[in-house]
Amino acid sequence: MSLIVHKYGGTSVGTPEKIKNVARRVKKVKDQGDQVVVVVSAMGHTTDELIDLMNQVTDSPDPREYDMLVSTGEQVSAALLAMALQASGCPAISLTGGQAGVVTEDIYKKARIKEIKLDRIKEELKENKVVVITGFQGEDSKGDIITIGRGGSDTSAVAIAAALKADVCDIYTDVDGVYTTDPRIVPEARKLKYISYEEMLELASLGAQVLHPRSVECASIYNMIIHLRHSQKEVDGTFIMSPAQILKEVGKMEKQEAVRGIALDENIAKIGLLRVPDRPGIAARIFGALAKEKINVDMIIQSIHSSGQFADMAFTVDKPELKKALEVAEKIAAELKAEGVVHDRDVAKVSLVGIGMVSQPGTASKMFETLAEAKINIQLISTSEIKISCVVKAADGKKAVQLLHKAFNLDKIIQ
Ligand code: ASP
Ligand code: MG
Repeated sequence: MSLIVHKYGGTSVGTPEKIKNVARRVKKVKDQGDQVVVVVSAMGHTTDELIDLMNQVTDSPDPREYDMLVSTGEQVSAALLAMALQASGCPAISLTGGQAGVVTEDIYKKARIKEIKLDRIKEELKENKVVVITGFQGEDSKGDIITIGRGGSDTSAVAIAAALKADVCDIYTDVDGVYTTDPRIVPEARKLKYISYEEMLELASLGAQVLHPRSVECASIYNMIIHLRHSQKEVDGTFIMSPAQILKEVGKMEKQEAVRGIALDENIAKIGLLRVPDRPGIAARIFGALAKEKINVDMIIQSIHSSGQFADMAFTVDKPELKKALEVAEKIAAELKAEGVVHDRDVAKVSLVGIGMVSQPGTASKMFETLAEAKINIQLISTSEIKISCVVKAADGKKAVQLLHKAFNLDKIIQ
C-alpha cells in the first residue's frame, strides 16, 4: 500500500463538474488500495475575486483579516471535493490547514510552514478516509489562520507529503509537465520525463512558471518526488527529483546531456552606467542604492577602460522596475560624476540550464558560436554552475532559443 498526496490547482477544481472529475480520479487511486491525501487550491480565480472584494472595502487591509478572507477560497473547494467523494461512495473528510496540523510562523500573508503535526491526518487515514486539506494556509501559535503567500498550495502539498513520508506528491495542473523549452516557441520541444530540483528551480525562476519555487525547495530538502502532471490526462508528466534518484530511474551511471532546458525571459530591461570611477566601494554604492529601493538586479557586468581609472557598469532589472531603477541610477551617476546612464527595454535573456554543464566544458562556447553564426549579438553574459545566460536584442530572443534547442539536440533527448 502506498501513501500518495495529490494536489489540484485552481483550474483543476474550477467548476462543480471538474471537482467531480477530481473525485473520480482520487477514488480510482483509493480503490486500488492506496491511501490518499488531497491538497486543493481555491476554485478558478476565487482568490483574486476575494482580493477584489477586499479592495472595494478598504485601501489598507489589516493583514490578519486578509488571511481570514483569502483562506476561505480553499475551504470551499476542500468541502466540495469531500462531498463529491462521499457522494461517489468514497469516505472522505475535509480539514482546514489548522485542523490538519499545519503550523506556520506568526506572520500574516506570507508565513513559512514550521511543522506539520500529523495526528489528525493519520487518524482519519486509519479510518479509511481520503483526507482533503486546504492548501495555502496553516495556523500560527495563537491559532489564527495564516496564509503562506500567493500560489502557496504547491508548497502546502509538498510539505504535507514530506511530513507524511508519502511515496510521491502528484501535482495536477493544466500543463502536461516540464518541457525542454516553451513549445509555443519551439514546436519540437520535448516533455522531460525527469528533471532535478536544481534545474527546475532555475527554469521556474527564469519564467517557466509551473510550480511555486518554494515547493521545489521544500521537496529538495526532503527528497520528496514531485510528479507534475495534467489533471485531465492519464499519461505521466514530469518527475522532479534528485540527480541520484534520476540516475537510478534511468539506469545510467553517469548523466549525459549537459543542457536540459532553455528559458527565455522577455521581461527584462538593461541599464548601463558609463565611466564610473574604478575604485573600491562603487559597486556597493550603486547596488546598495538599488537594494534600498527593493529593486531586484539580475545580471551585472563591469567592464574596464584602458586607463584603469574608469569602468562601465551594466545590469538588468525586470521591465516593470525599469523606471524606478533608472531614477536611482541617474541619481548615483550624478553623484559619481559618471559620463551618463543608458538603458534599453528591447532586450531578452536566453538561458541554458543543466546540471551536467559543470562536467562538460564547451557548452558556453557552443552557445556563443551558435549565436554568432546567426549574427545574433550578445550584449551581456553570466554563468553559474548550472546555467549560462546571454542578453540579446528582444527581436532575436525567440530565434536564439530555436537555434540553441537544435544545436544542443534537445529535440532528441530520450529521457
Ligand atoms: N489560491 C491561492 C492563490 O491563488 C493559492 C494557490 O492557488 O496556490 O494564490
Ligand atoms: Mg491559485
